[in-house]
Amino acid sequence: MSTYERIDIAALELDELESALERLGHPRFHARQAFQWIHRRGVTEFAQMTDLSRDLRRRLEAEFEIQTPQVIRRDVSSDGTTKFLLELADGKQIESVFIPDTPAQTFCISTQVGCAMRCAFCLTGRMGIDRNLTAGEIAGQVRVLARELRMLDTRFNIVLMGMGEPLHNYESTMQALRILADDHGLSVNPRRVTLSTVGVLPALERLATEPVMPNLAISLHSTTEEQRDLLVPINRKYGLKELLDACRRFPVKRRERITFEYVMLKGVNDSPDDARRLVRLLHGIRGKVNLLPLNEAANIPFERPSDETVNRFAKIVADHGVTVSVRKSRGRDIRAACGQLITETARTQTPGRRLAMLMQQGV
Ligand code: SF4
Repeated sequence: MSTYERIDIAALELDELESALERLGHPRFHARQAFQWIHRRGVTEFAQMTDLSRDLRRRLEAEFEIQTPQVIRRDVSSDGTTKFLLELADGKQIESVFIPDTPAQTFCISTQVGCAMRCAFCLTGRMGIDRNLTAGEIAGQVRVLARELRMLDTRFNIVLMGMGEPLHNYESTMQALRILADDHGLSVNPRRVTLSTVGVLPALERLATEPVMPNLAISLHSTTEEQRDLLVPINRKYGLKELLDACRRFPVKRRERITFEYVMLKGVNDSPDDARRLVRLLHGIRGKVNLLPLNEAANIPFERPSDETVNRFAKIVADHGVTVSVRKSRGRDIRAACGQLITETARTQTPGRRLAMLMQQGV
């Protein structure tokens, strides 16, 4: 039997694995043991599951495989941020990032190979979409990074802000979060997970009904429909007004808030008027604002505003009673910063600068 005909055991939730083993004639508790070996202890071979009988290990080997993303390269930034280039079973590559002190330790992981959303300021968006990641590949990034960094027993945060739009790969993303949350695995409390979305509305409405849900971050980036249509093209389908109405309805728990991410682009969306419009838009939403001064990159046709402009914007927002933070950029020297994740093969593409010119002209 070839590798690709076997089921990836690392993509199964515990109850699925229990049922699968039961069907094979083995007691359900063996599933818990195997799940622990894979997700809590990070093993990559059935032979390493030493408390399972040789017979069971052989049976598992015949029915399943443990797909584990392979570390191809590891770049460490001067600030300790570490970017991992990972290869999947079919040879596709993705990037995941470890950010050491934000204030907890954080893993930024990917949900797709590339991204279909094509945000104008994002290198990943330049790649277009190749394919969705499986639940095993999404959860596997956490397992591999935690193992490589000797953090399998450490508490950490997870942000779904790497390559891809998580709500464009809803089923696998939610399944991965359930695998990560399982007490027999890494036991990552969903409150330590933040899902960032540009606003795929049907999926956002569905997320609002999940029994266990992560924290929500909305990639807003603009305060007018016209400008957001250009910066975040999905806005042409699900507009700003509809998105904010959905946020007003979203069941935010007590003492929690929706984070509104706002990438700041020089001369495009960084004016005092933009700041005041942003405050008005967020009226009635339990939210906070996270300003992200652009991480400039060769193929991105925008510039980073000055610190003075960013601070002026932040002050206007804060003076209107909205909590605001300015994200310290991490890992810029290794292109691990927000919006800079792109695999080498796609990095050679060259976009035009027309869009930036249009935006700077106020279109
Ligand atoms: S910012 Fe996020 S949603 Fe937009 S293109 Fe980049 S990865 Fe996709």
